[in-house]
Amino acid sequence: MTVRRVIVVGAGVVGLSTAWFLQERGVEVAVLDRTGVAADASWGNAGWLAPALTLPLPEPSVLRYGLRSALTPSSPVYVPPTADLRLLRFLTGFARNCTPGRWRAAMAVFVQANRVALDAYDELIGGGLTEQTRTADPFLAAFASERDRQNLLDEFEQVRAAGGEVDCELLDGDTIRSLEPLLGDTVRAGVRIRGQRFIDPPRFLTALADSVRGRGGEIVEGFGTRAVRSRVGAVEVAAASGETRAADAVVLATGARLGDLAGPFGVRTIVQAGRGYSFSVRPAELPKNPIYFPAQRVACTPLHDRLRIAGMMEFRSPDAPFDPRRVQAIVDATRPLLGGIDWSALKEEWVGSRPCTPDGLPLVGATRSPRVFVAGGHGMWGVALGPLTGRLLAQAMTGTPDPLLRCFDPLR
Ligand SMILES: Cc1cc2nc3c(=O)[nH]c(=O)nc-3n(C[C@H](O)[C@H](O)[C@H](O)COP(=O)(O)OP(=O)(O)OC[C@H]3O[C@@H](n4cnc5c(N)ncnc54)[C@H](O)[C@@H]3O)c2cc1C
Repeated sequence: MTVRRVIVVGAGVVGLSTAWFLQERGVEVAVLDRTGVAADASWGNAGWLAPALTLPLPEPSVLRYGLRSALTPSSPVYVPPTADLRLLRFLTGFARNCTPGRWRAAMAVFVQANRVALDAYDELIGGGLTEQTRTADPFLAAFASERDRQNLLDEFEQVRAAGGEVDCELLDGDTIRSLEPLLGDTVRAGVRIRGQRFIDPPRFLTALADSVRGRGGEIVEGFGTRAVRSRVGAVEVAAASGETRAADAVVLATGARLGDLAGPFGVRTIVQAGRGYSFSVRPAELPKNPIYFPAQRVACTPLHDRLRIAGMMEFRSPDAPFDPRRVQAIVDATRPLLGGIDWSALKEEWVGSRPCTPDGLPLVGATRSPRVFVAGGHGMWGVALGPLTGRLLAQAMTGTPDPLLRCFDPLR
């Protein structure tokens, strides 16, 4: 089958990257989004391109931690008491993957992806994107105690054992505070991680969309795809309004809603929304680089003139209402560690859905229909891995698939 025209459903980082790399291979693209560019997870995230931290979500400590605290609304991992069978199936599958052996197997895949993920960003930027990635130096992880820090160091040891790279240096409280004066006296230990980058997600996604348009692609906002039909010689997508569009192939990149459209094409892996919250503050002095509080599971990223603070993992419907208690929980966890912030003046309060799979691996590739492809399920790390995903999928749709894609088989 020759692929000349492709419809991409979903204008998040994964869909737009796929469209861009398809254009690199001479394919004409139309990107359809029910809302617009970066309407869900790709907007309010922390923007970290951090290979040292890009790890599979299901791991033994998450399970221990989750069981202890999942039902407490102020905990960073929250699962509402539920009788929702789909969510229970996801949680059972997730728990089954939280063994050291499964984590190591998934980590071996992430190691391969992490080695080339930033390279895919460089290709985008080399192709004329107006927005850049920024080197995070120093990228600081801050802790209230050396004991808290040990958990991250243990994790890094496991990453290295799986063949991953982590270049880091231990810092005492005085040194980390001298590197980042916003850190409060309660910070007693730190780690400086090298070789990480970050982006300003809204600006980067806008630049990516502009680039797709500038190269002749169409981006259609307000097109909520209701159904996808694979026909002889073409594939057709239909909107709720009744409008239809046809192409040689379609890529479903609808984030946490991937299952709705991909299910009929044999994709049985559940993609569950792991909802995260963020907001921004204006500190007395804006840090130049991200700050990570691993024990609190809070990420801080400087974006233009404000500091974005992000956290929480709430396994709920992507349509559940914004819950202000989660924002308050992030504030309560972060306040003792960061000084110089007026916590009563929060802006850009936001919730978005990480597309999580039970085994922590993305779903990228062909489905049962030769004309329907999926790209999603990156959980915590869709920004870091989005451009690589687009590059791999575009290559598979127009030539010979990279062997790495076998690990992301959507029909597994
Ligand atoms: C708080 C938080 C912090 C994060 N921090 C990071 C980070 O630092 N680094 C990192 O790598 N990742 C991070 N992530 C994860 C990252 O944001 C996601 O993995 C990534 O954005 C997923 O991209 P996506 O394109 O698959 O999905 P999305 O960005 O969710 O895009 C899906 C798009 O599909 C559209 N859509 C859905 N259904 C339909 C339909 N039926 N028809 C048409 N359009 C449809 C939606 O409107 C949306 O625009 C974070 C996430 C959160 C919540």
